[in-house]
Amino acid sequence: MSEFFSPYDADRPLLLKCSCGKDHTAAEHAQEASAQSATAELKRRSLTSTFEAYSNEFIEATLVKALFPQDAVRRQFLRAVGKSTAMAAIASVLPLGTMQAMAQDKNALEKTNLKIGFIPITCATPLIMAQPLGFYQKQGLNVEITKTAGWALIRDKMINKEYDATHFLSPMPLAISMGLGANATPMNVATIQNVNGQAITLALKHKNNRDPKNWKGFKFAIPFEFSMHNFLLRYYLAENGLNPDTDVQLRVVPPAEMVANLKAGNIDGFLGPDPFNQRAVFEEAGFIHLLTKDLWNGHPCCAFGTSTEFIQKNPNTFAALYRAVLTSAAMARDPANRELIAKVIAPSQYLNQPEAVLTQVLTGKFADGLGKIQNVPDRADFDPMPWQSMAVWMLTQMQRWGYIKGEVNYKQIAEKVFLITDARKHMKELGQPFVAGPAYTKHKIMGKEFDPARAEAYAKSFAIRKTA
Ligand SMILES: [Zn+2]
Ligand SMILES: [Zn+2]
Repeated sequence: MSEFFSPYDADRPLLLKCSCGKDHTAAEHAQEASAQSATAELKRRSLTSTFEAYSNEFIEATLVKALFPQDAVRRQFLRAVGKSTAMAAIASVLPLGTMQAMAQDKNALEKTNLKIGFIPITCATPLIMAQPLGFYQKQGLNVEITKTAGWALIRDKMINKEYDATHFLSPMPLAISMGLGANATPMNVATIQNVNGQAITLALKHKNNRDPKNWKGFKFAIPFEFSMHNFLLRYYLAENGLNPDTDVQLRVVPPAEMVANLKAGNIDGFLGPDPFNQRAVFEEAGFIHLLTKDLWNGHPCCAFGTSTEFIQKNPNTFAALYRAVLTSAAMARDPANRELIAKVIAPSQYLNQPEAVLTQVLTGKFADGLGKIQNVPDRADFDPMPWQSMAVWMLTQMQRWGYIKGEVNYKQIAEKVFLITDARKHMKELGQPFVAGPAYTKHKIMGKEFDPARAEAYAKSFAIRKTA
């Protein structure tokens, strides 16, 4: 029997084997070739001295920002002690020094073979592209990134320690640490992966039904309960007078199944991650009602994180990972790289999407399914700063919708899970007088200010909330 053409294989087209000899279609061949040349070009850019300087500075700036979230305090500190004292003080408390030393001494890594989970969505861009671009390898790490079917599985594999680190929805480490929906296991957010980058997509039949006040009875998909998607959709519906628990149905659906469910008429819409909003437009199944950027510009979505135990046992490995992911974020932030990144993450082992869909998401030049081409450069962005005030907002919404019962010590939980505090604690031990307050800032959600200093009153201020 021929092993070249498999004429009796029901799952494979006959006589369509690629001329290169590989078992894939001509379209897959073209996608692979395009990914390879894009990877080579991005690698070339990452090896230039300009990028090297840019990414080092980006990492340093991110760390300094974590230490001094309020810029006025940073400047006050610099003026008071002078630049070189400040740099020495900062270097002594941040992983930066360790990380730079490690570049010379790879033996310091406690563990080099790592498994990292990801969900195939554009939020995971920095985490994914670090592999083909060799950023993990450069840090002495041998990382296997594993595509995972859904968020519950990500949670379980982190708790079972099958993964060393992972792509998380940013509320997940809060929920897992608090033992919501799982045995309490301390988890950390090391960096935010992406900000913005989500949308509310509706089925085409609702083209002329854009006012949420008329959406009673709608069925919406969300990727997971502990997600910004759930919290933002609930917030949006409630601001428009609908109770998300009683006036509509919210269903947890893995992102990759959202478009099929929209097509089949099982749902009226979803608040989901990209590329699936754009994929719905591409398949002529739906239109983009609004970008989540328009609900909260700069909202966090996914995170890069791991367990507290992993960080404690493998501090140098964690620092190396942190550096690799931040290098990747530095590259992803630059709009000039976005078209190439779309090609790199398109193939089947990563997002498995048409390049045209990913380009629209990452460049922000996109067809909205309503006959318009929109140009929103920050439709998706990659800002790694894990503001603890973002965590506090998530906790207020978890409380609002009954996921947490009773009183919540917002700051304690936020500071335990969103990793900024350690550096500040060490700073205090060193007797540095100008240590910034925790990483809290005000945020604006649908035009209303959220002040983390008044979280308790904020949580109780909503007319629509879960009462039972
Ligand atoms: Zn081929
Ligand atoms: Zn996300």
